[in-house]
Amino acid sequence: MMQQYHKLKAQHPEELLFYRMGDFYELFYDDAKRASQLLDISLTKRGASAGEPIPMAGVPYHSVEGYLARLVQLGESAAICEQIGDPATSKGPVERQVVRIITPGTVSDEALLNERVDNLLAAIFSRGDRFGYATLDITSGRFLLSEPSTEEEMAAELQRTRPAELLYPEDFTHHTLTEMSKGSRRRPIWEFDLDTAKQQLNQQFGTRDLVGFGVEDCSLGLAAAGCLMQYIKDTQRTALPHIRSLVKENKDQSVILDAATRRNLELTQNLSGGLENTLASVLDKTTTAMGSRLLKRWLHQPIRNIEMVNDRLDAITALKVSGLYVELAATLRPVGDMERILARLALRSARPRDMARLRGALQQLPDIETLLDELTDNAIIPLKQAATPMPELTALLERAVVEAPPVVIRDGGVIAPGYNAELDEWRELADGATRYLDELEKRERERHDIDTLKVGFNQVHGFFIQVSRGQSHLVPPYYVRRQTLKNAERYIIPELKEHEDKVLNSKSKALALEKKLWEELFDQLLPHLETLQRAADALSSMDVLANLAERAETLNYCRPTLTDTRGIDIAGGRHPVVEQVLDAPFIANPTVLHPRRRMLIITGPNMGGKSTYMRQTALITLLAHIGSYVPAESVTMGPVDRIFTRIGASDDLASGRSTFMVEMTETANILHNATENSLVLMDEIGRGTSTYDGLSLAWASAEWLAERLKAMTLFATHYFELTELSGQVDGLVNVHLDAVEHGDEIAFMHAVQEGAASKSYGLAVASLAGVPKTVIQRAKTKLRQLEASGHEVVTGEHSHVSATQLSLLPELSEMEKAFADIEPDNLTPRQALDALYMLKAISG
Ligand code: ADP
Repeated sequence: MMQQYHKLKAQHPEELLFYRMGDFYELFYDDAKRASQLLDISLTKRGASAGEPIPMAGVPYHSVEGYLARLVQLGESAAICEQIGDPATSKGPVERQVVRIITPGTVSDEALLNERVDNLLAAIFSRGDRFGYATLDITSGRFLLSEPSTEEEMAAELQRTRPAELLYPEDFTHHTLTEMSKGSRRRPIWEFDLDTAKQQLNQQFGTRDLVGFGVEDCSLGLAAAGCLMQYIKDTQRTALPHIRSLVKENKDQSVILDAATRRNLELTQNLSGGLENTLASVLDKTTTAMGSRLLKRWLHQPIRNIEMVNDRLDAITALKVSGLYVELAATLRPVGDMERILARLALRSARPRDMARLRGALQQLPDIETLLDELTDNAIIPLKQAATPMPELTALLERAVVEAPPVVIRDGGVIAPGYNAELDEWRELADGATRYLDELEKRERERHDIDTLKVGFNQVHGFFIQVSRGQSHLVPPYYVRRQTLKNAERYIIPELKEHEDKVLNSKSKALALEKKLWEELFDQLLPHLETLQRAADALSSMDVLANLAERAETLNYCRPTLTDTRGIDIAGGRHPVVEQVLDAPFIANPTVLHPRRRMLIITGPNMGGKSTYMRQTALITLLAHIGSYVPAESVTMGPVDRIFTRIGASDDLASGRSTFMVEMTETANILHNATENSLVLMDEIGRGTSTYDGLSLAWASAEWLAERLKAMTLFATHYFELTELSGQVDGLVNVHLDAVEHGDEIAFMHAVQEGAASKSYGLAVASLAGVPKTVIQRAKTKLRQLEASGHEVVTGEHSHVSATQLSLLPELSEMEKAFADIEPDNLTPRQALDALYMLKAISG
């Protein structure tokens, strides 16, 4: 048995090998140690090998799915090894085989997947600083490729797609990238070979070349895609008919969000990695899990093409105005996760209930068609076409599968009566049996006058006649004892034995036939896979559009207008998430940016609402570009190519970078890449270093953004000095958030107003936060002292540093200042002599 184990383990060195033994899956040696740690199961010992006991850990077979789900979440893979031979008939150890390999990126079992999140397998490849990246969603067959041209862009892609498993060549050197995914796996370099890749892909798609997909020249992307294809074939060991194209993602079509921005804006995950208080948590009320996944893809990929955005907006408007979104959502509910069901159909791993649910989905199509009959918007017509009713397939599933099938096909009971005449006959024989048994029981009971006589059946002993212990002396001699229980005896008679053979025979005939019919059902459905997948896609889109219509109505959002004229004009804008979590009413604020008003320097007290204001502007911009209504009274928006954020300070300890380093890396990225169509949010830059360093950096960055890049920028700062830039740099204006103080109390107004703030209220906020009264008192005294002594109190209540002084930073010495004041051309000899005495005195 252990020999067999070692042979199988040698073929699967990387995966945890789950070795079936009776009712358990056992793991041995290092696998056992790893599993016991990861799954918190106990580590035991078994037998001995070379004098050492073999470490062993096991899980019961009926609860294996739960354990597998945990492993997959931890980024681990497992190989499942089953007993193939029959233990009763085989001599020596039962034959075993690895029947499935489960890896984080290739799972399609319902039990192992989070239904509202995409589960992607990805592969990455690089040459120098250029990258090839391929992702595959095995549950939808969506196979995409891109070629990011910098490490930064590559990181953004990883942040956006968050693959469950990432394959990389063994000589890959960009470790920060592979560390971003917990399921990273090294693969041999030859799996990334371009020619092999093309061959693999052509074979999969049944094509001669890849020109039709427009990816023929993407050598880096294809290398990644080839390795991915190889891996999926190795692990799935079955045909993958639902993967039939490779699409190149074109970033020119989307509003680019870098990795930091995706994080900072908390689109689908909050900063601590949870799901609460994210944009998705507010917007996602989709009825199907596949709709929920699509919505999240939309959120991560805002589009620039105004027509596409308007098509979506038109569709949402139509659903909203007609009120049809309510019924559409209700009609979509029974559709369920058609997308993933179809993947299991393609992989031939669909379960009986998948078929029943697919039938449920198809049964909704006529209602959906009727419901949307009157809508003729550009975005809706193709969806209606893709989701037209499929009466034949619906009827097939209605005829073939029982109303509520069991979980697995193993014990039968899945194929409906009336579907196949032969099956019905065998079943009748097996069932007719019960009638016969009732009669036999009655007959024998009366004949021998034994009123406790019963006919029964169990798996081990087959049919039997049971008589209570008290009456067992009454049984005739031809009753042969089969089993003795505590209070009863069980017998068999020749007639019953004969019947048993007949029944068992017809039962197994029925079961075999049923399994064959089940397989045939796949053969009948698979030719329609593409049509079915298109319908599933259309239904997901309908779900998202209906959902956005509902959100627009319920949350009082407005339709944004997208134009070609540069600028952003938001009236009464709100933060979609903050407005939901606040108890108090949210104060709506305007944002106006255009070429003559490119940068807003935002000042005001901590807690005043600066970050909220900036983020809401970014979120409204993003929502407008996914084609959603937005939280505002009205919005008009010109082209936006990228959204950048430099917000908050979080130490990226994992990568060994301090807060300040992270901040500066993000700032550098912005200063290199922003264009005049970019929306840039800068929050409190320069905080992580000394005041003068920080202020100078903030100052210089603001100038660069406003004068050179001309980007649309919101620049929140606690350096009041920056407010002086507005007089000096064209297109730069001050706005502020206000607060009012009553004695020690402070109230924030949260309303954005033109002009610079007059105070920073630092001490009042500290007091509000519970800093001890005595410390606050002492701080007040210190502040007065500093002000009186003429110190430049940069972040204090009143600022004394002027812009001219700032431009001379760092501070000049008295001697240098004196020198600067001397203009030799205008001096008389006498004045020159005086100046010399003065300098001598200063140097003193
Ligand atoms: P800052 O960045 O100026 O320190 P924040 O943007 O973090 O301030 O806002 C602090 C808190 O004030 C928020 O958590 C929210 O509760 C509240 N707030 C912010 N903006 C508004 C607003 N427009 N209306 C109502 N409450 C707001």
